[in-house]
Amino acid sequence: MTEMTPMMRQYLKIKEDYQDCILFYRLGDFYEMFFEDALIASKVLGIVLTSRQYGYASKAPMCGIPYHSIDTYLPKLLKKGHKVAICEQIGDPNNSKGPVERQVVRVITPGTVIEDNYLVAGENNYIVNIYGKEQEYGVAICDLSTGEFKVANIRGYDNVINEVLKLKPAECLVPEGFESHIITKKLAEALPTIYYFNRGHYNYKKSLELLTKHFQDGQIQSLGLYNYYFALIAAGALFEYLQTTLKNTLTHISTIEFYSPEAFMMLDYSTRKNLELITNLNGGKENTLLETIDTTVTAGGARLLRQWIEQPIKNLGEIISRQTKVELFYKEKVLTLELRSLLKEVYDMERLISKIVYGSADAKDMLALKTTLKTTGSIKETLSRHVGSDGLHIIIDSMNPLEKVVSLIDDCICDTPASGLKDGGIIREGFNEEVDKLRNAKNNAKTLIANIEREEKEKTGIKSLKVGYNKVFGYYLEVTRANLSQIPGHYIRKQTLANCERYITPELKEFESLILDAEDKLKNLEYQLFQQVRNEVIKYVSVLKQNANCLAQLDVLSSLAVTAENNNYVKPLVTNCSNINIQKGRHPVVEKALGHLFVPNNLNIGHENNTIMLITGPNMAGKSTYLRQNALIILLAQIGSFVPAEKAEIGVVDRIFSRIGSSDNLAYGQSTFMVEMQEVANIVKYATSNSLIILDEVGRGTSTYDGVSLAWAITEYIYSKIQAKTLFATHYHELTRLQEYYQGIKNYNVGVIEKGEDIIFQHAVFEGSTDKSYGVQVAKLAGLPHTILDRARTILNSFENGVQVDINSRSIEKVPKVSLVQTNPVEDEIDKLNIYEITPIDALNILSELQNRIRKLRNDSGEA
Ligand code: ATP
Repeated sequence: MTEMTPMMRQYLKIKEDYQDCILFYRLGDFYEMFFEDALIASKVLGIVLTSRQYGYASKAPMCGIPYHSIDTYLPKLLKKGHKVAICEQIGDPNNSKGPVERQVVRVITPGTVIEDNYLVAGENNYIVNIYGKEQEYGVAICDLSTGEFKVANIRGYDNVINEVLKLKPAECLVPEGFESHIITKKLAEALPTIYYFNRGHYNYKKSLELLTKHFQDGQIQSLGLYNYYFALIAAGALFEYLQTTLKNTLTHISTIEFYSPEAFMMLDYSTRKNLELITNLNGGKENTLLETIDTTVTAGGARLLRQWIEQPIKNLGEIISRQTKVELFYKEKVLTLELRSLLKEVYDMERLISKIVYGSADAKDMLALKTTLKTTGSIKETLSRHVGSDGLHIIIDSMNPLEKVVSLIDDCICDTPASGLKDGGIIREGFNEEVDKLRNAKNNAKTLIANIEREEKEKTGIKSLKVGYNKVFGYYLEVTRANLSQIPGHYIRKQTLANCERYITPELKEFESLILDAEDKLKNLEYQLFQQVRNEVIKYVSVLKQNANCLAQLDVLSSLAVTAENNNYVKPLVTNCSNINIQKGRHPVVEKALGHLFVPNNLNIGHENNTIMLITGPNMAGKSTYLRQNALIILLAQIGSFVPAEKAEIGVVDRIFSRIGSSDNLAYGQSTFMVEMQEVANIVKYATSNSLIILDEVGRGTSTYDGVSLAWAITEYIYSKIQAKTLFATHYHELTRLQEYYQGIKNYNVGVIEKGEDIIFQHAVFEGSTDKSYGVQVAKLAGLPHTILDRARTILNSFENGVQVDINSRSIEKVPKVSLVQTNPVEDEIDKLNIYEITPIDALNILSELQNRIRKLRNDSGEA
């Protein structure tokens, strides 16, 4: 084996601990990658693959990126699911024998980035960790960029899947050995990154110690988290993962929240998707509920509104508390206007705090914090002028503008600080005497140089003599060739150029070290002072976080008021009764597109005479829209918002289920019908009498009789066993007979007006059923050829009148001569045979006769 170069030996030693990462090894101004890492990275990043001496006789594949371009390249690797370990030079090159000491300073993964350019302002960047077995699981969740850390104890793996998918984490951890668990398999279908974390980290004792030590104020005890084995371990293991990847103590994670998903309205994955809450069915953001109602003006507000939509609440008191504040902002227009113009000046406080604590905040970030705190003060003052019984004072009282921190930053940091932290130019004049002194020395350098230049000119008599500076020689005296004869003996020549020579003198060098020394000292001192201020600010993390939360709440509450005003929403009466009564309700998204053309509709459901609404009507009439609009109105009411209706009374629901349309999941071996039935199975398993179910067609993916029978049985089951409020849109007119048997099942239809052969959609929901689907008329609207439409009408007529389809009346050429209602006499004959009672000879005779008959039939039909 060839002997390795010392650098390679160092590289391989470091890499040993980071086998699952791409190692960015700092070499001068580059991050270099070697071996397998280089092969992967060169492909993903599209950079040239070269090689470097590995042993004294062999070469290693290598590629590299300039260190300052890391922000361009890193996201590409993260997106492909790679972790990146950043290995920096930490030793002093001047004092190193062999390669400079290097160390991994941080591992970057999709869920642990905190830098602005990898994050989306209005969205959280979550990492989750799942641990548990059978029916009980712990799910720990963290957004490092905002310092949010929470954990939930969840029963049932499908509830775990729903909870995790709700968060759309950038990274998901599961213990090694969880690869074939149903949770991992399901999540892998929807999430970009799943990592397997060493099982050894999933340890109760270790987790308890770690968390109790970090959350020092007894949070683990007071939350009773130690009673929840899996939740505690999930949180502990996640915490350890974060500490080891960030190589940081995570001071900004100051609180741990222990929550129960039961506190929120349950929305499963397909319901969220179908209702197009945050993303539309194509995965985009347009025409979603969020896009329609989001008028927030801060990044924190945008994130909070998203969370509210993702998890509507069930607690009546809490809903009313939010609603009352929205109403205040709705009524107090001037106050709201003032508040929102102040909020526009606010920076992303949560992310600023994380950067400050993590040590990546620069002077500009400190100024952003100062501005935000000052604005917090102005907001507090503005809101304090309003006195009411709307609970706003709780938010106002929780806001602390931290004047001390404002003046500290104000005194210390100048108004237009430099971008970096180590090159000076950040501390305000007058803040520190030493800084001022050094700065003076530095600034006076110009005058001193001018003095030296003047004096040397006088002494030598060379008028064109100049003092200059370059990085290699430092300060020098430049004399043109014509004057070289006048050079004094103590000038030391340093450089010869075409037209001139450059010299130094001992005096000039002394001056130089004074100036450069001052500059170095100044830079160091400025950095030290900045760190002191930053550390002082860190002491106020929890107050700062509280402020961030108040600002986000104010933004969301006032935005909901603005949306209500802009879109003409009303305050719903939210109750704990079971009844839901919506007068002239509208679909919030569709009405935005249609404006006044949208036809409002009523809903009155949840009492003994109306538990299940069976809605029939033609295609395109507006059944799906009606179903979704009611689900969205209820959801809006339960986030505390006003709703698109003329009047609404909403009994709180515990879950909304939807089964709308269906798509094949062929990659996982599931057909449309299978997916549909799985969704229904999920609904009947989890729905309660307080749930709302919307079903848009059930049983359409199979034969008509199977489909109708299933739909009938499912409706009966929901009615008799669950009693959930259900809106069921269907084209199976057979189902409308259910009304005759059950008091609480009622028929409705979305009306159309017939005009000759055409129809006009009314988009209005009426009581009673319809016995027509108008499929042919809608097909006409869709532009199907007349030949097909005419033929379809004839066939429809035959079916409706119970007569056989007349093949001779066909108007389509080349229709094969087979009856649509086929009765094949030969088949019947064979069917009737009792093969146990006939002899072999009989069998041969029968076979021969059948053969003759088939041949005759073929001749009759003109087949060759
Ligand atoms: P299908 O049975 O084919 O699924 P559908 O009855 O569910 O049809 P929708 O998809 O709800 O029909 O609506 C079809 C179109 O009708 C919508 O895209 C919308 O443009 C319009 N529409 C629906 N409801 C209304 C309404 N209340 N007012 C005005 N237009 C509406």
